[in-house]
Amino acid sequence: MTQMDMQPDDEKLGANAPGSDEVHPQGGIVSTKVRGSLQKDAPLDKLVWFKSGGRADYLFEPADTEDLTNFLGRLEEGTPVMALGLGSNLIIRDGGVPGVVVRLGKPFSSVEVRRDNVLECGGGAPGILVASSARDAGIAGLEFLRGIPGTVGGFVRMNGGAYGREVADILIDCDVVLPGGNCVNIPASDLNYTYRHSKLPPEAIVVSARFQGKEGDPGRINAEMNRIAEEREQSQPLRTKTGGSTFKNPEGQKAWKLVDEAGCRGLVMGDAQVSEKHTNFLINRGAATSADIEGLGEEVRRRVAGKSGVTLEWEIQRVGRP
Ligand SMILES: Cc1cc2nc3c(=O)[nH]c(=O)nc-3n(C[C@H](O)[C@H](O)[C@H](O)COP(=O)(O)OP(=O)(O)OC[C@H]3O[C@@H](n4cnc5c(N)ncnc54)[C@H](O)[C@@H]3O)c2cc1C
Repeated sequence: MTQMDMQPDDEKLGANAPGSDEVHPQGGIVSTKVRGSLQKDAPLDKLVWFKSGGRADYLFEPADTEDLTNFLGRLEEGTPVMALGLGSNLIIRDGGVPGVVVRLGKPFSSVEVRRDNVLECGGGAPGILVASSARDAGIAGLEFLRGIPGTVGGFVRMNGGAYGREVADILIDCDVVLPGGNCVNIPASDLNYTYRHSKLPPEAIVVSARFQGKEGDPGRINAEMNRIAEEREQSQPLRTKTGGSTFKNPEGQKAWKLVDEAGCRGLVMGDAQVSEKHTNFLINRGAATSADIEGLGEEVRRRVAGKSGVTLEWEIQRVGRP
């Protein structure tokens, strides 16, 4: 669209855009047309597992992909955009997140069975729904998603995995909305997957993905899912405010073991603590700030480096203003 073609309603979000100095007295970009929900100065703590952290300048929950592409197409260039899934791998810093946080909710949580044991999943679909839909259709190979409490979009970005399987093994391709609003299809081979990492462009939003399974027996698939659920219950602090594995496993080593050997089991900073149950998990005991949680993680890294010489790399994404 050129400047000349623009109608008043189509005005770029520039003047009132997130990150801009000018704020419209009636609520800025809320007045622009979206079909989903657009909230200014929105709290994010309740939307993430750690239950800590600041606010988003704007929180957008699109009604569908077209709503998202239109919105991003009208957003001033350079406005930061970040996708949020279930916040199961995130520390939102206490100063909040600049720009727009895009959360894919219900409209993006469908899972449909296609021919040849393929599942077509919305970017906001939770792992447990993907795994149980596969089971019900007699599709094996996706059981591991049962134990990862995130969304398809988060899995695709993070190359989520467990029990020797990861998203790189099952992803065929995904549809992604880029800054500026273009929707493109990206085959798995272009994501250059490595351990818990992809080359997905930083501000790209995964709106759907196709996973390949293979024919299987629903009873056996169900038994494997139950085994995974039980094992998780035994080994992870599932019913706490946490963020999953804090550090990546260094090549040939276990992060939890290095943390334990450095004497960090149960270590406390403010109301943040290294889990007693699983030392690669940090937990919020109640009133921890994100600064407590991140500070504790940094202290653990320092102690592990001092003890074993290994510099642990964060797996949890840390975003926003301190
Ligand atoms: C108890 C517990 C157990 C866990 N166990 C595992 C495990 O076994 N294996 C494992 O791999 N992980 C595990 N995790 C971590 C977490 O569940 C995964 O990293 C998951 O992929 C994150 O998904 P999410 O939707 O919650 O993403 P979020 O935490 O919301 O975001 C994580 C990152 O993904 C990006 N993102 C989210 N949605 C999208 C989207 N639609 N498009 C583009 N980018 C997006 C975010 O911007 C951010 O960079 C665990 C977490 C918890 C709390």
